[in-house]
Amino acid sequence: MSWETAEAVGRLGSALATPLKRGVNERNAMQHTRQQSLGDTPSDEFRKQLHELADWIADFRERIDQLRVAPNDKPGAIREQFPQRGPEEGEPFERILSDVDNIIVPGMVHWSHPMFLAYFGWTTTAPAILGEIITAPLNVNAMTWRTSPAATELETLMIDWIRQWVHLPQQFGGVVYDTASVGVMHALAVAREEAAPFVRKRGLVGAGAPVFRIYASEQAHSSAEKAAIALGLGEENVQRVATDSLFRMDAGALREMIACDVRDGSKPLAAIATVGTTSTASVDPIPEIARICREFRMWLHIDGAYGAGFAILPEYESITAGWSDADSIVVNPHKSLFVPLDFSVLYVRDLEKLRRVFTLVPEYLRGDTVEAQKNYMDYGIQLGRRFRALKAWIIFRSFGREGIAARLREHIRLANIFADWIRKDNRFELAAPISMGVICFRFVGDAAPSPRGHMAARGRAVSIDELDKLNSEIVEQINASGRAYLTQTKLRGQTVMRIGLGNVLTTEDHLRKAWEIIQETADALSTKPQIPNKFQSIKTPTP
Ligand code: PLP
Repeated sequence: MSWETAEAVGRLGSALATPLKRGVNERNAMQHTRQQSLGDTPSDEFRKQLHELADWIADFRERIDQLRVAPNDKPGAIREQFPQRGPEEGEPFERILSDVDNIIVPGMVHWSHPMFLAYFGWTTTAPAILGEIITAPLNVNAMTWRTSPAATELETLMIDWIRQWVHLPQQFGGVVYDTASVGVMHALAVAREEAAPFVRKRGLVGAGAPVFRIYASEQAHSSAEKAAIALGLGEENVQRVATDSLFRMDAGALREMIACDVRDGSKPLAAIATVGTTSTASVDPIPEIARICREFRMWLHIDGAYGAGFAILPEYESITAGWSDADSIVVNPHKSLFVPLDFSVLYVRDLEKLRRVFTLVPEYLRGDTVEAQKNYMDYGIQLGRRFRALKAWIIFRSFGREGIAARLREHIRLANIFADWIRKDNRFELAAPISMGVICFRFVGDAAPSPRGHMAARGRAVSIDELDKLNSEIVEQINASGRAYLTQTKLRGQTVMRIGLGNVLTTEDHLRKAWEIIQETADALSTKPQIPNKFQSIKTPTP
């Protein structure tokens, strides 16, 4: 029955409202409601909701800096506020939106808040939000060219725009995944197939594969181990290589580790060199690593998840040295090119190798793959794929390469300003050089390190452990206050505070405010009576 017929039946039913006819009448009315609710929200109502939502989004964005950056609730506090069983009947959108306002928003860590300075400062922008909104009603599946020609072709185009911007040679082709972790897993699957053909068909044992080794610096991201786990290569076969004083992979140490593994009968499979490590944004010496990979016939994967985007800046072109020798490289526009999560591109020098490892066309999709076009389902384990390229396209067109470059430069400028503030306050020290938008620093009081690893403070020793605890507490306390949000990491075994800049809303004023909060918190914690009096000894005397 069509919607119109159902409505007519409903109308007819109300005209026959005699007791005798009531049963029929009620049944018709119920049918009418059911027919209406089986479709979508009526278009007038939907339009109204969309307008309301547009205002909601604009208000949220405009007032985000008035929100707490993070909640301070106990785990489970949000879930408790909702019914524990799913609703039997639908609810009006207004009621749902009011729960978003009252429960969801206060329960969020606001990654796009200008005082959110953690991880890799986030990439929400107005054009990005517009891009996400347009993507939602299209809701296509970009698995093959035929199922979504525009999504497929725009994806190929975006991959190529980024390739040109970061100066990768033309022979590199790519595919968009959700994350760099998924990218490195696919890259290593190709490396594995190159080193032991037939693993795809017969598995590692069936193909008689040796024990493979993968090398990444001690500063590299843990996605290397995750990939090894997923590919059956073994987490322990990811060897962590020592770094130099600037947190870059020590190429000499890499060579020694490889030589040792070869002597012991394992097979060096791949090296992962990082451009922009997670803790400090250091850049590994890629030309030297590339030479070693060639010598030992290993796959070279570059993890440029964060740092590769900076190659868009002419003054950063030097970081691309050696990239043309790589077999694969991952770039996360969702970390540094203002595309919101998720959008990560894996480039492979010979993309056909990736296709050969993953193409598998079931009968029911054969008709969809007849055109000699790219079918992105062939380039990974995922079949269903979002139209991610649309948001990237909207952002890139809205900002242009120059707009992106200008914003990245601003984040680098802010990082350097912050580093200067640290240098001028002798209670703090920089823990790593500034290379991109990341600052690692440590509160040390007025202490100076002694040769025995103790801080000599006003004649008393304060252990490194106590300073570690204090630095960690500063971060925890600031995050719990809801006024700013930062992270902590370990460098050379010591706890340091870490700021990542990348949010277009973060200005110098915000950063100054964050610096004042850090100073105040460090002062308060280092003089707090119930926290070890020993911290009093590292308090700087007020002038
Ligand atoms: N590589 C580096 C250097 C990272 O810093 C990160 C995450 O921060 C990753 C890879 C993993 O990124 P994704 O979340 O896209 O998997």
